[in-house]
Amino acid sequence: MASPKLSVIIPVHNESANIAPLCERLLPVLNRITSNWEVVFVDDGSRDDTLALIKEVSQKEPRIGAVSFSRNFGKEIAIAAGIDHARGDAVVIMDADLQHPPEMIETFVERWREGYMMVYGQRTDRSDETRIKRGFAQLFYRLFSQFGEIELPAGAGDFRLIDRKGVEALRTLGERARFSKGLYAWIGFKGTGVPFVVEERKFGASKWSFRKLFRFAFDGIAAFSTAPLRIWTYLGFIISFLAIATAIFFMIRTLLFGTDLPGFPSLIVSVMFFSGIQLMSLGIVGEYVGRIFAEVKRRPLYVVAERIGGAAEVSSSLVPETPQLRRA
Ligand code: UDP
Ligand code: MG
Repeated sequence: MASPKLSVIIPVHNESANIAPLCERLLPVLNRITSNWEVVFVDDGSRDDTLALIKEVSQKEPRIGAVSFSRNFGKEIAIAAGIDHARGDAVVIMDADLQHPPEMIETFVERWREGYMMVYGQRTDRSDETRIKRGFAQLFYRLFSQFGEIELPAGAGDFRLIDRKGVEALRTLGERARFSKGLYAWIGFKGTGVPFVVEERKFGASKWSFRKLFRFAFDGIAAFSTAPLRIWTYLGFIISFLAIATAIFFMIRTLLFGTDLPGFPSLIVSVMFFSGIQLMSLGIVGEYVGRIFAEVKRRPLYVVAERIGGAAEVSSSLVPETPQLRRA
């Protein structure tokens, strides 16, 4: 029997400068582990020559394949497509920018052979990021552990190995607003962390803007918690109670002492305050309604423009266009 297959999924978006250095470092590692490996690049609508470069390496090394999207769908969706096209018994997900050291895959595979279904890289420090970004990340994880319905292991990101069983479980989750870290935790299975230091991005720039990260964070919370919806119920109760109490207070005061100056400023202030609260709560409800809308449209997660190498052998019947047709 052939040795178990190892797949490596690499989402790429305008990473032309990284393809060659990445392959140079990654392939020797894979060859040390097994000869039965494959690399699945997911070209997330790159506008530079990323795809052309991948085609070049794929010609020399047929074990390298690619799925190319018709446009940019975002890293989370790219990972979903990679998982759909990977055929390995163990599937590794990693970034293209060499921030995830390829040598770690050896350790991942060792742990996997020991019986762990999920092996994740745990970053030991975030000193590569700006202070503000780190601050927000911290705030996010605190909020998530407080209100989220699942536990996220500290410092674990997308750099991980997942067993076939876990991959199949992930493939049944067809949601659009994908917060992969939450999904990995949601499917469960026995997992373990391997600490690693995130390296500097060697070429190109990070593709995450602050706005994107913020949306991503909110997606994460909203996908795994309804706390933002519930806050408003409590706040509503408290505010109504305060309003009744104030009304009674003013009533009694007027009965006892009569009115003094009409309270124009306080009126304006309270109107502004409460309309602010109402708009905010409406907005939060709207966020959830928007997500429901996005989910019920049941659009496919991504549109493939081209499949290269091994990924092309995964026939489109295996990857149906609509998620509800996915293998149960
Ligand atoms: N990426 C992607 N689609 C996007 C943005 C990023 O596939 O819309 C890929 C990118 O090419 C890289 C990985 O996701 O391989 C991580 O991106 P990046 O290094 O920009 O993120 P950071 O390391 O700053 O979190
Ligand atoms: Mg990076």
